[in-house]
Amino acid sequence: MSEFNHSKQVTPILKDIMNVLEQFAPLYLAESWDNVGLMVGSKHKTVNKVLCALDLNEEVIEEAIMQEVDCIITHHPFLFKALKRIDLDSTQGAMLEKLIANQIAVYSMHTNYDITWGGLNDELAHGLGLQDIKLLETTYEEQLYKCVIYVPLTHYESVREAIVNNMTTQIGDYSGCTFTSGEGEGTFIPLEGSNPYIGKQGIFEKVKECQVSFMGTNAEIQHILQAVKKVHPYEEVAIDVFELKNMKKQYGIGRYGRLEKAVSLDEWIQTVKAYFKIDYLRVTDPTPKMIQTVAICSGAGSSFIGSAARVADVYITGDLKFHEGQMAKSLGLVVLDVGHYASEHRALEPIGRCIEAQFKNCQVLYSKMNGETLWTK
Ligand SMILES: [Zn+2]
Repeated sequence: MSEFNHSKQVTPILKDIMNVLEQFAPLYLAESWDNVGLMVGSKHKTVNKVLCALDLNEEVIEEAIMQEVDCIITHHPFLFKALKRIDLDSTQGAMLEKLIANQIAVYSMHTNYDITWGGLNDELAHGLGLQDIKLLETTYEEQLYKCVIYVPLTHYESVREAIVNNMTTQIGDYSGCTFTSGEGEGTFIPLEGSNPYIGKQGIFEKVKECQVSFMGTNAEIQHILQAVKKVHPYEEVAIDVFELKNMKKQYGIGRYGRLEKAVSLDEWIQTVKAYFKIDYLRVTDPTPKMIQTVAICSGAGSSFIGSAARVADVYITGDLKFHEGQMAKSLGLVVLDVGHYASEHRALEPIGRCIEAQFKNCQVLYSKMNGETLWTK
């Protein structure tokens, strides 16, 4: 991420942080029923310290006040249903009052963070050692474009590096995909008012150039072009952008992948318990079997049991109900219910990493408040 490698040394305002987070997990990826983004506060507030938490409750607000935090980033939306009144005697009203009095902003990343590439479900899939990770269900398709940049031969390496360091779109399991065409000849006449890198005003100029092309979404291409313009020598860079008819970037809920080698169900259960740091989980069918393919969906993912049964031996999620367990069993799928809280609470790190990588002057904390609501006795 070359543009962002030069981490900004000034203290950011919330809008800067939101821009970075929304490049990572765009708001339009969220499910239609969801509510994500800035919940409370001003975009212009300076942010020295953020606190990442799964949920916002009174304990987390107290923790934020104690730690002098400027913004709390939650996974579950703080405001979900529309508010018709702010009753300061209600729990939510009192929380709002305390947040505003202490100038603490709240920003929520929910299904957009579940869905985005590199988000919560990818963190879990990688953390559990899955390979060849794919989407469990596609929820959003985005138009892809081919971008072609004309570069003098002296600069194509640095332009290509800027592209590769800022691109996120992959072709299948391949990242960093570009194509550089052979030598050609560009011509131009610098006009009055120009300040050409090569040539003189009013004189017809010929330069050996090549074309570097790559693929991305509209937002990704705009971001990459900002980085390219910092290393491209020309005052006016020639760029062509073509809509691709044959490919779209897909996003989706849940992930599945395979284990490097098959393991017994018992062994896999121990691995899962250790990863999620839990003493117990619920299993729909404990009959011994070998596990090679694994699907996962953080939170309450039982509506994807059918999809998981088509691609995996075992499915990890939370909030499983009795009849959903029956359905899984009838489909020959073993479901491991690790609990909603456990499936999500340890996967906030990508958010923190995203902020830390870009803003050296913004400290990231993770809530120490345990938000579990269902304990095993
Ligand atoms: Zn959740």
